[in-house]
Amino acid sequence: MRALVTTPGQAHATEVAEAPDPRPEAGEVLVRTLEVGVCGTDREIAEGLFGVAPDDGSRLVLGHELLGVVERDGPGFARGDLVTATVRRSCGRCAACAQGAPDACLTGDYGERGVTRLHGFAAELVVEAPEHLVAVPASLGRLGVLAEPASVCARALRHARAVGARQPWELRRALVLGTGAIGMLSACLLRLEGADVWVVGQADAGTPQAQLADGLGARYASTEDATAADVARDAGGFDLVVEATGDAQVMLDTLGLLGRNGVACLLGIDARRRRVALDGPVLGVDAILQNRSLVASVSANRVDWPAAIAALDRARARWPDVLDAFVGLRVPVDGFADALAFRGVKATLAFQPDGAPC
Ligand SMILES: [Zn+2]
Ligand SMILES: [Zn+2]
Repeated sequence: MRALVTTPGQAHATEVAEAPDPRPEAGEVLVRTLEVGVCGTDREIAEGLFGVAPDDGSRLVLGHELLGVVERDGPGFARGDLVTATVRRSCGRCAACAQGAPDACLTGDYGERGVTRLHGFAAELVVEAPEHLVAVPASLGRLGVLAEPASVCARALRHARAVGARQPWELRRALVLGTGAIGMLSACLLRLEGADVWVVGQADAGTPQAQLADGLGARYASTEDATAADVARDAGGFDLVVEATGDAQVMLDTLGLLGRNGVACLLGIDARRRRVALDGPVLGVDAILQNRSLVASVSANRVDWPAAIAALDRARARWPDVLDAFVGLRVPVDGFADALAFRGVKATLAFQPDGAPC
């Protein structure tokens, strides 16, 4: 079968290569890949900045955003079922992983399919244990490829809500920073919950990202025209800020965008070595006197996956054209370089032509 493979730690080593067909062991499910989403993590791995190959070699099959179709009846799944799969796997020796929460792994020695020590899903066939597969309703169809980034957003919002709810708090006004898949899907989930949503991003007004925000009933501001601080001042402070920019200065600044009892949730990653700064009274006075909090979130728990998929399906029913537009580029796997270079909301690699069995 064909697979998208790379050598972690080495730039320009990504290629479509022949790999042996996986053979499911008893109790495992064989899945035919329909589509795999790509994101900044894949880009970083392809640039040699991130990722770890499995113990048995130096090559890693990429892809952690799966949409597939069950190829053969397996435990809990029947041929033809649409499925996705969770990404992070137990380290095998911590209390969080033992409780089924590798998203809160205590050792950091977890594996992640397509990222760390486990082959990914960017291959024609994938084998998976049924407990890691998540059903995707046929009504969601190809948009099921958004399940992984949506699960990351669902976890973040679940955690932000838990922190907010430690005291009287209402999620009325939310600000999303960043217009990648994580930012736009967060905006989508927040709109579904009825929040008033503002999105601030670098894209100009009139670009697809701004149109998506508009289509979801959110208000869009380009950083060309307004700073997040301007938007926060005009809105009267936010109950929730979701950061999805991958800029540590923006992350720190979120503390200054919150209203009373507000919660900021950080989702981006920024490994650049530098100092970031904040006006002293924002931290030393406002954060204290207004009970503000800053939390961060990564990956997703098993419970976030069905929640995210159900939310995506509700969003599809409510804003069908908008959801379709989330996938701005869909290319065959040979076009992976275009997918990795894509700077819209989401690019995907199609392993089966559109209209293939869903
Ligand atoms: Zn991703
Ligand atoms: Zn663990």
